Amino acid sequence: MLDTLREECGVFGIFDHEDAARLTYFGLYALQHRGQESAGIVTSHGGRLMARRGMGYVSEVFDDESLSQLKGRLAIGHVRYSTAGDVSVREAQPFLVSYHGGQLALCHNGNMPRAIGLRRRLEKAGAIFQSTSDTEVALHLVARSRAEDLVDALVEALSELDGAYSMLLAAPDRLIAVRDPRGFRPLSLGRLDGAWVFASETCAFDLIGAQFLRDVEPGELIIVDQTGLRSVFPWPSTRPTQCIFEHVYFSRPDSIIFGRPVSQSRYQLGRWLAREHPADADVVVPVPDSGVAAAIGYAQELGMEFCFGLIRNHYVGRTFIEPQSSIRHLRVKVKLNPVRDLLDGRRVVLVDDSIVRGTTCREIIHMVRAAGASQVHMRISCPPIISPCYYGIDTPHREELIAAGHTVEEIRRFIGADSLGYLSRPSLLQACGDPEDTRYCTSCFTGKYPTEVDEDYEPRATTARSPMKC
Ligand code: AMP
Repeated sequence: MLDTLREECGVFGIFDHEDAARLTYFGLYALQHRGQESAGIVTSHGGRLMARRGMGYVSEVFDDESLSQLKGRLAIGHVRYSTAGDVSVREAQPFLVSYHGGQLALCHNGNMPRAIGLRRRLEKAGAIFQSTSDTEVALHLVARSRAEDLVDALVEALSELDGAYSMLLAAPDRLIAVRDPRGFRPLSLGRLDGAWVFASETCAFDLIGAQFLRDVEPGELIIVDQTGLRSVFPWPSTRPTQCIFEHVYFSRPDSIIFGRPVSQSRYQLGRWLAREHPADADVVVPVPDSGVAAAIGYAQELGMEFCFGLIRNHYVGRTFIEPQSSIRHLRVKVKLNPVRDLLDGRRVVLVDDSIVRGTTCREIIHMVRAAGASQVHMRISCPPIISPCYYGIDTPHREELIAAGHTVEEIRRFIGADSLGYLSRPSLLQACGDPEDTRYCTSCFTGKYPTEVDEDYEPRATTARSPMKC
């Protein structure tokens, strides 16, 4: 039960626009890669908040009719990703509650490890929870606060919870956006037809035609209501530790994250990878889609041929059933197919963004060899992942991370590559525009966490990987 508190998600919010619900729907569409399990929208109309939440893709949860019912000029929305644990609509966000201060809706992207202990304490004191989410713990803390004002109550609650959060709250008359003081997860601020918009990634602004103004700063809390926008920094400032894996894998390449275009980072990752680990080979092939930009950078740096030697099936949906036993080898083949004509008899450099358990990588290499490749040189555009993430990226238990217990040579043998090269941490920082190492969290590569973490608190084990990668 408790290991279901982690979420990778996307949030979107808008104030004050006549098409608030529909624009939120499209905003969430652009953030679908951040969560495919459930989607939800809350709007405010006539002094009341109303919600619709459901399981599945944004397009499955909403239709014309349901969007028409979500009236109002204020909306917040959420997409949630989870591959294990409680999969139920009760977990879908935004959560909408009534408390002594009125109605309140909340959704967030991140993870608050302290929520587990606080939840136990609250339960002992009689609190009843509807879900396993840390978001609900935040709501309880807000409701129990003695502070008169919602913002003060929220600051109090979040100070207790700590952790990683990019959060949107809706009260009937205002929208609040807040990013934790270390800024682990992204959150951007934009403008559309005089309305304020917030989104996990700027690709959501592009879709609806909003102008990207700036990031919500780490530790910043923004309130937007009829009087305009107010920004406060309620916590002492601290060194930002923004998640570098957003640049490596998670965010869309057409987004600007932490003040930097993701596509730029991805190309640079490939270029640095090529400098560190050149290969004597004929052709560079990306593992699509996440490895594409880095593979292009790799090929450009070395003046090598690049080709799409693996083709991705983009219609592998959320409900993809993992094949059992005798046909398990079909698992990766459902998603990827090699182009024999491009691979046969050639020495291939395969570029992917990361190795987690190593099992997918092993199957892909096997597939590329079966398609005739004479050699396969694996190149990974980040360092070995040796530690779980406690800040909102879904990683398995430490024992399941192949690099946590094996050397690069052992991993090479396991995945069956002729050679294996991982990008070093200094080059990762260079590629992501931070050679001085001042603003990123790299704890999954170092095991050094910027906050206190309870080592017993293991991020959840997952049996499936996200079917959508970007
Ligand atoms: P494996 O070879 O089984 O370790 O799988 C590695 C693949 O998983 C890479 O292609 C990554 O793009 C992908 N990956 C890395 N992190 C995640 C994540 N948090 N969720 C889903 N897929 C991921």
